[in-house]
Parts: sequence; C-alpha cells; structure tokens
Amino acid sequence: MNRVFNFSAGPSMLPLPVLEKAAAELITYGDSGMSVMEMSHRSPDYEAIIADAEKMLRELMNIPENYKVLFLQGGASTQFAAVPLNLIGRTGKADYVVSGQFSGKAFKEAQKMGYDVVCTATSKEDNFDHIPALTRDMFRPDASYVHICYNNTIYGTKYADIPDTGDIPLVADMSSCILSEPVDVSRFGVIYAGAQKNMAPAGLTIVIVREDLLDYADPKMPTMLEWKTMAENGSMYNTPPCYTIYVAKLVCEWLLSIGGLSEMKKYNEKKAAVLYNYLDSQNYYIAPVKKDSRSMMNVTFVTGDAELDKKFAKEAAAAGLKNLKGHRSVGGMRASIYNAMPSEGVDKLVAFMKEFAAANPKA
Ligand SMILES: *Cc1c(COP(=O)(O)O)cnc(C)c1O
Repeated sequence: MNRVFNFSAGPSMLPLPVLEKAAAELITYGDSGMSVMEMSHRSPDYEAIIADAEKMLRELMNIPENYKVLFLQGGASTQFAAVPLNLIGRTGKADYVVSGQFSGKAFKEAQKMGYDVVCTATSKEDNFDHIPALTRDMFRPDASYVHICYNNTIYGTKYADIPDTGDIPLVADMSSCILSEPVDVSRFGVIYAGAQKNMAPAGLTIVIVREDLLDYADPKMPTMLEWKTMAENGSMYNTPPCYTIYVAKLVCEWLLSIGGLSEMKKYNEKKAAVLYNYLDSQNYYIAPVKKDSRSMMNVTFVTGDAELDKKFAKEAAAAGLKNLKGHRSVGGMRASIYNAMPSEGVDKLVAFMKEFAAANPKA
C-alpha cells in the first residue's frame, strides 16, 4: 500500500529514510546478531546508540556544556508534575503562562500539589487564538521558574520570541516544535518534549536541563521523576525506552544529513507559507489564530460550519490526506506539518482545499 500524508498531531510522520534504515536494521543491528529491541541497555552496542543520540542532539540544538540531556519515559504530561517537584525548592513559588490546553494542564498539576503557583497571563478569554503579551515585570521576581508552552499543538499558536524572564529560569514545553528550527538553548533553564511529534515514536521524553537547576528537588519526590538521579545515571537509573531512543538517533542523523536545524527551518517555513498564504488569499476557510502567533507546525482552520468541517476531514482522508480533524476540544481542522511532512503533502492539501471549497459552496 502507498504511504499517505499523515497530518496527525502526534504520533506523527517519521522521515521515510529513518523508517527505511530502521527496517533494514530491524532484525540484526550491525554485527550484534540481534535487534535493538532485544539488546541489553548496558551492552556496548546500546551504550554507543544512546551516546550517539545525545551527541547528535547536542550538535543539532547547539546545547551548551552546562546542560544535561535526559532520555525519559512518561510523556510530556509526566513532566507537568516533574517540573515543580524538581524546581520549586528554589524559592517555593512558580509562575505559569497559560496559552492553551497543555500549559493549562501543567499549571493545574502544580496547583494540585499545593504549591504557590500563579497564572501570570492567559489568552483563554480569546479561545487561545494568540500568545499573551509578556513583559519581565509581570513575573514574581522570586519565582523558582516561569513555565511556558512554546508551541501550542491544539490551537496552532507559537511564541514569536523567547519571553524575557530576567534571572528567573524559563521552563518550556517544546513537544510540538523541538527540532523544527534552531533555538537558543541558553535562554532556557529547562526544555522538555514528548518525542512523538517531531523526534521519534511515542514513549520517549527529552529533558534538557541546566546543571545548576538539579539541586532543588523535594527530598520526598519519587526517584523516577528526579532529574538529578537520571542525570547521574546517564538516563539509565532503570531501563530507558531503548528502541525509541534508537529511532530518535536515526532522526537526528537524518537532520544532520540535510544540513541541521537552519535548513530544516527553511523547509518548514516554506511549507507553512504555502498553507497560510492560501488561507489568507480566500474567505471560504477561516484561520482563527492571530498572525503574529501562528505556528509553523500546527495550522488550524475552520469552514465555520461544523457539518462541512466533518465532511472535509472525511473526504480528505479518502484522498490520502489523513488526520486533518481538529482536536476534539476545538473542532475544525488542524494540519500538523512537522519536519517529516513533505512539501508535496502540503501542496496536495491546498489543492484539495480548493476543490472542496468549489464543490461545497456555503449557503
Ligand atoms: C502532545 C503534547 C503534550 C502531551 O504529551 P504526552 O507525551 O502525551 O504526555 C504536552 N505538551 C505539548 C505541547 C504537546 O504537544
């Protein structure tokens, strides 16, 4: 069967060369005589795989020496709890920006644990159609950290700039934009991401943490959530998600082979421009996100008629353009166009949108 264009928000498409390489190495890896799936995580072969994954990720993202890279499990959602547990000990309080569903969940998780956390800014009253404006003086100067979600997967918004939090460590959920473009890691205290959007299959969570932030953990915290323990054990305090880390390594290899994140960014910008330019050129579809907050990875649009939206997603799927239905909480359509989505997929989508609009005039 032919491969479709899969616009899923996650798990999502992986680059074809990565799948091909994984397939070629599936049954026996190198001269190990076994699959990576069957390998001890303490074996020399596997140690080389995880070391390469880290090395390539550091190279791609230009991660400074004083940051640890952790390969964890539990998804980004587990980090909603791990972030306060690891960091609140700095000052006992933390500030959150709620720009969508995931940052809202992160805020609620910290609240649930009884910590002194405040929501500094939100765009909730505008149905999260933009990133709230932030200035340094909005944050409590003695906050342990400021938490943001850098790209809002569900609403299709992204920060145009890294917010200025002064000396307060900035913690960012980058699940749906990691590796899509270069970022200045040194501006962040912590970056975390579930891998299944832009890095690997589900099951892996990346945490990139500045070393001086490893000393504030609540002593009663579960060992598995403690970044310091994971850092001291090279992410192997227990069995890591071995195979997923291996695929992440292949993805990093692929990214390096195409010229790294600045090249990836150019390609992603081009794809997003094709879609947004079309959306801006017509009035059949509405793009609800404010222009200065548009995401390059998740593009949301609606027809304004829920029945037509449903028909759109169904007919697009039949045409080989899968998973365009918006998140269940917002409806409409969402095209997730991560790194692995070829520009051909976006061109096909725009052609389909034109045909659909012509064939389904609104009353
Ligand atoms: C998908 C997503 C999550 C949830 O990730 P899990 O790995 O399923 O826990 C959190 N934050 C963002 C920004 C996401 O896109």
